[in-house]
Order: sequence, then C-alpha cells, then structure tokens
Amino acid sequence: MSDRTPHNVPPACPEFERLLLLFAWDDLDVAQRADVEDHLRRCEACSAALAKERRLLEVLAHKQISVEICISSNLRTGAITELSKHPVRRFFEEGLMVTLNTDDPAMFQTTLNKEYEIAQQEFGFSEEHLRELARNSFEASFLPVDKKVRFLQQIDTFAKS
Ligand SMILES: [Zn+2]
Repeated sequence: MSDRTPHNVPPACPEFERLLLLFAWDDLDVAQRADVEDHLRRCEACSAALAKERRLLEVLAHKQISVEICISSNLRTGAITELSKHPVRRFFEEGLMVTLNTDDPAMFQTTLNKEYEIAQQEFGFSEEHLRELARNSFEASFLPVDKKVRFLQQIDTFAKS
C-alpha cells in the first residue's frame, strides 16, 4: 500500500470511533482490551479498516492487542476475494499479535490444523513462525498464568524434540 492511499475513510461501523478512542489510551485494562479484541473478532468492517490504516496497525502491535484470524472464514464470508489478498502475513510482519482460529469449524469446514496448514502453504509461514502463532494464542488467552506458562513450555519442549 502506498502512502497515497486515502485515509480517513470511515468504516461502516458505528463502533469504530469508540475503538479509536480506546487505542489512544496508554494503558488498556483487561476489560477494555477484551472489549476491543471481541469487537475485532466479530466486526469485519473494523478489521478491514484497521488493515488499511498503517498507524493503527502500529498501535495494535505496540499494545500487543491480539488479532484473531480465521483465514477460511474470511474467504468464505467474502471479507477477502481470494486467499492471496489475506493480510495475515502482513499483520505478522508488522509485529501484530496474530492468532489463528477456526471461528465456526462446522460452518466453515475447517480445523485448527487446517488453518495452520494454510498459513504455511499459502503464506509461507515457517515452522518457527507457526510456533509463534501458537504461543500468541496461549498468551492472548484468559488462562491463569501458571497454565499459560506450562503450555508455553510445552511448545518450547516440542520444538526442541
Ligand atoms: Zn466494528
């Protein structure tokens, strides 16, 4: 995307302004963070608007707000017209806390394994990248800290074996 891309095009979502306000705060508390993440998960207008706005990507990266992505469902719902247009790789390169998810596995006929496979085959994520995506999922989860640590250690152990 060039710097000449027109900005300030409001997305078709009344919640976007509120999200922008939240983004401007230095410290989001747990509830605010969950609020933002939940909205991004449900709202394709806001997700798409963020994808176009480099400054916002930087904020998301800086605050390590997790961005839950289900590549299959984004394709099937028409949020993207073809797989190659999906911003998952760019989000990852920008340092966003990307997690891969299945959304509604029955409806979108996918599994978590399949989403990781797509990431690897279509977007060139390496094994190390995939481990980072898995780590992100645990870090972004609402698990108690001791469980998080245990799962993260398991990923590391698995990587070394
Ligand atoms: Zn929205």
